Amino acid sequence: MRKTIIAGNWKMYKTISEAIELANGLKRELFKLDAQDIDIVLCPPYTALSEVSEVIADSNLKLGAQDCFFKDEGAFTGEISPLMLKDVGVKFVIIGHSERRQYFGETNESINKKTKAVLRHNLIPIVCVGETEEERERGLTFQVLDDHIRNGLKDLTEEQIGQVVIAYEPVWAIGTGRTATSTQAQEAQRYIRDLLAKFYNKEIAESIRIQYGGSVKPENIVELMQEPDVDGALVGGASLSVDSFAAIVKRANEVKK
Ligand code: PEP
Repeated sequence: MRKTIIAGNWKMYKTISEAIELANGLKRELFKLDAQDIDIVLCPPYTALSEVSEVIADSNLKLGAQDCFFKDEGAFTGEISPLMLKDVGVKFVIIGHSERRQYFGETNESINKKTKAVLRHNLIPIVCVGETEEERERGLTFQVLDDHIRNGLKDLTEEQIGQVVIAYEPVWAIGTGRTATSTQAQEAQRYIRDLLAKFYNKEIAESIRIQYGGSVKPENIVELMQEPDVDGALVGGASLSVDSFAAIVKRANEVKK
């Protein structure tokens, strides 16, 4: 059985004091959930990592980052390394979010380097894949997923791929309020799992966690989680308030597969 994983991507929101307040609120709301059953990951902006790390120490909440560079150190102004993230208590790192592909020139090649760097430090990469609206309309969804998986995760060993979490995030559903239907999510996520079986083997493919991301809310999480290949969610907007994120986590946790 794959362990459910719900991650909140806070994007470029929350000052340090606001981040502390949100993390404290979530800790209070979610303390009853068993960390053996579910991974609950908070991904604040870099500036708040240290404080959120302190707030959630000794809780069932885990710390994630929204990106990182692929070198450990060096003259790379403005970048943050996986080593630095590990140092502050990070366990998960989002790689290749579509906003990074869209605004910051992220490519399958850089995503591949970052994924390997994160794995080298025993952190868990959450690798984002997904088609744009135009690509879906042109019938290219599977082709795009094939390209993102084949090249973004290129040359990972069986052991490495086993650590990766994949987030299927159709770009047209991110921040738009237009969630993919559970059938659309399942279809894409089954396709991803079948690809992994082709590139590795069935056993590994069945063990890899695949999240859905794109306008996830308390109202749609149950339907999504009921699909056999949806193992959790990457949540943007709805992760910014205690009530909505806690409700998503609790409802997802109730859907045992
Ligand atoms: C995201 O940031 O990955 C995301 C899915 O955002 P939202 O939930 O706001 O669509």
